[in-house]
Amino acid sequence: MYAIAIDGPAGAGKSTISREAAKRIGFLYVDTGALYRAVGYDMLKSRIDPADEKAVCTRLPQIEVAFGYEDGEQQIYLNKENITANIRTPQVSAAASAVSAIGQVRQFLFGQQQNIARENNIIMDGRDIGTVVLPDAQVKIYLTAAVEERARRRFAELQEKGIGSGFDEVLADVKKRDENDTKRKVAPLRQAPDAILVDTTALDFEQSVQAVLAVIKEKIGQEII
Ligand code: C5P
Repeated sequence: MYAIAIDGPAGAGKSTISREAAKRIGFLYVDTGALYRAVGYDMLKSRIDPADEKAVCTRLPQIEVAFGYEDGEQQIYLNKENITANIRTPQVSAAASAVSAIGQVRQFLFGQQQNIARENNIIMDGRDIGTVVLPDAQVKIYLTAAVEERARRRFAELQEKGIGSGFDEVLADVKKRDENDTKRKVAPLRQAPDAILVDTTALDFEQSVQAVLAVIKEKIGQEII
């Protein structure tokens, strides 16, 4: 099996770029952020402060988070309910970021991420895929862009979905998540030593997909394409 790990900060375009690249090479796309979002969503719904480690850990055994695929699109289930459409709000983003700093939450989601990689050729995106979840991935990419550009893209995405956050709020949210993700003690966001850096600040979507495909081709091109 082949594993391509794509890590990077919030709003770098990881999920849209990874999804498209996976489609073009016939790999399964796995968005691991959705797992953390599912846990964060559950805490909000259960009226638990996502930053309250003790309360979150007490709740964890009562929840089941699972992946599924419908028409090739990843779905996420919380206690068997499909919550895919509910996990993209700024509130859930913040809750996901908070719960992701808790070691037991990461442990809780670890096995599923490894299992899906064992059984499929995948492009998996997240924060710690190349460093912790799949350290033996044949291809590792660290995908990033300047923080203002990332905020601008996230803002446009939210507007399209009709979620009315102001730009300043989105920028503050992206900065806060960068800080949480890079400074947390367990599995902080960082570039794996063997990851290739792809900076998409000046690239449009197609150019970004091409940049990612070029790295994949260089690493495992003869074998898979
Ligand atoms: O990628 P996405 O923005 O959906 O991720 C939501 C949150 O989940 C991130 O802010 C990050 O804190 C956390 N996350 C993580 N490790 C991953 C994927 C996501 O800590 N592998």
